[in-house]
Amino acid sequence: MSVKSDVIIVGGGVVGAACARELTHAGRSVVLIDDGTISGEAWRASAGMLAPQTEAEEGDHLLELGLAGREYYATRTEELSAATSVDIDLFRGGILKAARDAEEAEMLKRRVGWQRQHSHHCDWLDPVEMREQWPWLGPTEGGLWAPGDGSIDPVALVKAFRADAEARGATLIGDRIHRLDLQPDGHVLGVTGSSTYLGDHVIIAAGAWSGRLDGLPRPISVEPVRGQMIAIPWPEEALPGVYFGYGIYVVHRAGEMWVGATMEHAGFDNAITPAGAGFLLSSVSKLFPSVAGTEPIRQWAGLRPGTPDGLPIIGPEPRAPGLWYATGHGRNGVLLAGITGVLIQQLLADEPPFEDISPVRPDRFWSW
Ligand SMILES: Cc1cc2nc3c(=O)[nH]c(=O)nc-3n(C[C@H](O)[C@H](O)[C@H](O)COP(=O)(O)OP(=O)(O)OC[C@H]3O[C@@H](n4cnc5c(N)ncnc54)[C@H](O)[C@@H]3O)c2cc1C
Repeated sequence: MSVKSDVIIVGGGVVGAACARELTHAGRSVVLIDDGTISGEAWRASAGMLAPQTEAEEGDHLLELGLAGREYYATRTEELSAATSVDIDLFRGGILKAARDAEEAEMLKRRVGWQRQHSHHCDWLDPVEMREQWPWLGPTEGGLWAPGDGSIDPVALVKAFRADAEARGATLIGDRIHRLDLQPDGHVLGVTGSSTYLGDHVIIAAGAWSGRLDGLPRPISVEPVRGQMIAIPWPEEALPGVYFGYGIYVVHRAGEMWVGATMEHAGFDNAITPAGAGFLLSSVSKLFPSVAGTEPIRQWAGLRPGTPDGLPIIGPEPRAPGLWYATGHGRNGVLLAGITGVLIQQLLADEPPFEDISPVRPDRFWSW
């Protein structure tokens, strides 16, 4: 059997599903293909933080993209929830990043300073202000407060993107794609899994698995980066929210404290380890001393699609007209999924992208 469409998306995780949503809203016919059985899909493991200001380094290309990503959810949540009845649990109450020592305090003060110079709302709090506002935190040397950052429920988000795309005519298919098929002149023909799917455009949005398809014109610079997380009960005395400190972060979700995350190069091994849980537990006990000795309720892991420079890969493959990449989102794929969908829609329509996409162009890694 073969299915023909305008656009085929390989991978229906948060990035592929967002692309499907934006393309169907622009009137494209879309087939969204997701395996559904792969262990380690990043979106299922993700904490769902929207933290462009908390995470950005000076001169970081991720900041502008990330702010646009955060804004995407601020403006689309009502529309998405009205269309799908899915609550994506958007939290816009700010993120605190606590400094554990003087060195980290200096680094965060610099971060606050240059963000303010670029007119982004961001504050530095000294240790006394920290104790007054967040008395349940362990000792800190101050903290960065990013009032516009927040979080979202990534699993609900994927559900909403998929449902909205489907309501707009997308076909959702459960299949594992093995091969990209090209015409003799190099143009895209389609993809093959247990069936053949024909399309004018193919978007590779298969996360950490993006480079594993046969028939790609060249290797894709994406490698899995394992992230382990644990959940513990949210301590009663602490205000629900999102906090960074001591090398970890915590996110409040449904009464639990989700603590993350390790960054490990372990290939496609999605195993959880005692060392991973141990690191997360000992670090969170420094940030929230009252949780010391708590046992995890759950532990899980996922594979981020990591690139050498930490930026995603978004754009066309010149060797195969009709082939597009929307992958390599690393630690920020939930934050960036929505605007990746917008950028992909604009690129396919040959419209000028709303952001400068040169930092994320696929050909930045190619010397041949
Ligand atoms: C522990 C952890 C915490 C994280 N926290 C955050 C966070 O707080 N904020 C944030 O912005 N990001 C976070 N991330 C990163 C974010 O989850 C990823 O960047 C994002 O999920 C990448 O989206 P994706 O769609 O490219 O890949 P994935 O989410 O991995 O989805 C890829 C999809 O493609 C499918 N697929 C793969 N191969 C095939 C194939 N051959 N055929 C068909 N389907 C296929 C898979 O089944 C999967 O559903 C976190 C990640 C981890 C692991």
